[in-house]
Amino acid sequence: MCSPALEAVGSRMEKILLEIYDSLYKAFGPLHWWPGETPFEVSIGAILTQNTAWTNVEKAINRLKEHNLLSPECIRDIDINLLGEMIRSSGYYNQKAKKLKAFVDFLFLQYEGSMELMKETEMWTLRHELLQVNGIGMETADSIILYACYKPIFVVDAYTRRFLSRHKLIEEDAGYTHIQKLFMNNLPSDVAIYNEYHALIVQLGKELCSKTLPRCNICPLFVVITPFMGFFLAETIGVEETETEPVEVE
Ligand code: SF4
Repeated sequence: MCSPALEAVGSRMEKILLEIYDSLYKAFGPLHWWPGETPFEVSIGAILTQNTAWTNVEKAINRLKEHNLLSPECIRDIDINLLGEMIRSSGYYNQKAKKLKAFVDFLFLQYEGSMELMKETEMWTLRHELLQVNGIGMETADSIILYACYKPIFVVDAYTRRFLSRHKLIEEDAGYTHIQKLFMNNLPSDVAIYNEYHALIVQLGKELCSKTLPRCNICPLFVVITPFMGFFLAETIGVEETETEPVEVE
């Protein structure tokens, strides 16, 4: 059992994370993730989106669809060089063709090529299995588990790490698992919340909390994490707290 002091820290974090969620949702939500018509398409998208913009992934997925190749059987049977050609727009296409092949090989070996059967597996067991597949790391595995299998796991990405560390809620070099636990230990275990929360963080990262020029003066989180803002803004980017107001972003 937690000590009262630890419980207090936990509930404070819970409150902060829920306030962040509410503010981002008011500004950007709902975002209706993940873009994809089937669990298999979502899984393919999760692999193809590694190190590239989503627009490039969309082109690759559309090309696969145009050629009626977006099924486990077709990805398994197609020549790997031709597959690479089909997904060229997503970048690193030779590597990604291998990764797609590895994923469908796993799907057939373990689940008869059926996403429905895969979805029946217990969440942490499935995560362990996916992490054994060549080219599937934690972020990709968790994206598949959350968005294709509808299981309550929190997806962490570079945007998540960036905004949390800027607000001193984590160390800059905090690991994936540490950040994931921060959310999963302090939020309800809820697929809909985890789905929307990650999508909102991605939107935040793309629109406001960029790597080089965070737009804190129009960010909905500006006042939400007040105790951390003064330090961050004064010490790191020199924005005057008193001159800025949060606004909602269309
Ligand atoms: S207030 Fe600034 S640092 Fe914080 S999330 Fe918004 S843009 Fe990023």
